[in-house]
Amino acid sequence: MTPDEFRKQAHVFTDWMADYLKNIENYPVRSQVKPGEITAQLAPAAPYAGEPMERIFQDFKDIILPGMSHWQNPNFFAFFPSISSPPSVLAEMLTNTMGAICLSWQSSPAATELETRMMEWLREALDLPAGFQGVTQDSASASTLCAFLAAREKATGYAINEQGFAAGAGLTAYCSAEAHSSIDKAARIAGYGSLNLRKIPVDAHFSLQPEQLEAAILADIAAGRKPAICVATLGTTSSSGFDDIEAIGRICNRHGIWLHVDAAWAGSALILPECRWMSKGMEYADSMVFNPHKWLYVSFDCSVLFVRDPGALIQTFEVTPEYLKAREGNQVINYRDWGIPLGRAFRSLKLWFVLRTYGIEGLQAELRRHIALAEALAQVVAAEPDFDLVAPARLALFCFRFHPKGLDDESALDRINERLLNALNDSGEIYLTQTRSAGKYVIRFSVGQAATEARHTEAGWLRIKETARSLAR
Ligand SMILES: *Cc1c(COP(=O)(O)O)cnc(C)c1O
Repeated sequence: MTPDEFRKQAHVFTDWMADYLKNIENYPVRSQVKPGEITAQLAPAAPYAGEPMERIFQDFKDIILPGMSHWQNPNFFAFFPSISSPPSVLAEMLTNTMGAICLSWQSSPAATELETRMMEWLREALDLPAGFQGVTQDSASASTLCAFLAAREKATGYAINEQGFAAGAGLTAYCSAEAHSSIDKAARIAGYGSLNLRKIPVDAHFSLQPEQLEAAILADIAAGRKPAICVATLGTTSSSGFDDIEAIGRICNRHGIWLHVDAAWAGSALILPECRWMSKGMEYADSMVFNPHKWLYVSFDCSVLFVRDPGALIQTFEVTPEYLKAREGNQVINYRDWGIPLGRAFRSLKLWFVLRTYGIEGLQAELRRHIALAEALAQVVAAEPDFDLVAPARLALFCFRFHPKGLDDESALDRINERLLNALNDSGEIYLTQTRSAGKYVIRFSVGQAATEARHTEAGWLRIKETARSLAR
């Protein structure tokens, strides 16, 4: 494709993109296709002769679009938000056009230096400890894995990297019973083993119980094991629980354990001074992850890992063969040594575009709006006689279940709520997801789309109520 053909097509595409955002409410929120329906429409092999872009674009609209769930739809209340804002998309258009792989400072100096500056902007905006240094990763899962690997190496004097697992038998890790599945994955991949990940019980507010943590640590030490890392969560996925990082941090500090804070979703809310209660004790943390690609208007992927001592990451990950040596040496940062991949995406450009377009003030206003919408709706839910508010609104997430009068059998309640969720999502008008809370099947309501207003949350609630009551009849 020549640059002039590209120009012609790009104009058509950007018109479509603007129309898409304008008409986003008209698309079914959750895709309505059945398994295999998309595959059946795709050619079984790549074409031998090239095809015109007009035909490819038409197939995108006819085949692919119906198989998409529309995450930017204001009626999307599933999982967590992943906001793709226009300034972020514009930055990604530039990034993709330049197609640079930012594997070292030299391979694109601006990518490294802008990333360093953006990490400083975010550290200030979130009011994180002054010594923290950040690096972008593709996901919270990858950021957490980096923390598990660095903690493993630090706890063994960097011996496992050299000698393999023989050097590190008995390492243990800790998190709450409500921690995200990415913690289980990191414990497996980093070689701790699932059996050595202690799931500490939570209290009635879904927060890790610090006394139970210390008891587990002491028991492991007494048994000759080596506690290496503890994860505290800010904003658990199931019910927006918050661990007390100050209390946990003191314990970790006492026992020389790496404290990693998983704030993948809730971390963005630290731009709000009124939410800083949740980061009390952050000075104890060795690392902290949050995803601007969830709630900070930066499109996927963009996770940020902050660490107190980048040296621990570098000692864990740095490998410099001849073909990667550069004359700038130690004068520059090479972020490849702060994580797993060599080739890295230029993520900081979209951060720069988003932070400058909205300003901190603009982003604060958006997050406050989401939180207020969730709180207002949770109050309405709490007042309904045939619904339980299972987890109150904390930040912009709450959980509820339908509980009609006289129906008290737990498995019947699970079944009717599952039917309710499926009926709602099959309507295409709203998208919600479920979790289990104290064994009960509950429905999560997560607010956070750029276009969501009170009319969406209110209409959504009306639909939930009517659907539920018609199922009960
Ligand atoms: C979303 C989330 C994750 C996983 O994030 P990825 O970037 O998809 O890996 C982990 N922990 C918490 C608390 C989350 O909200």
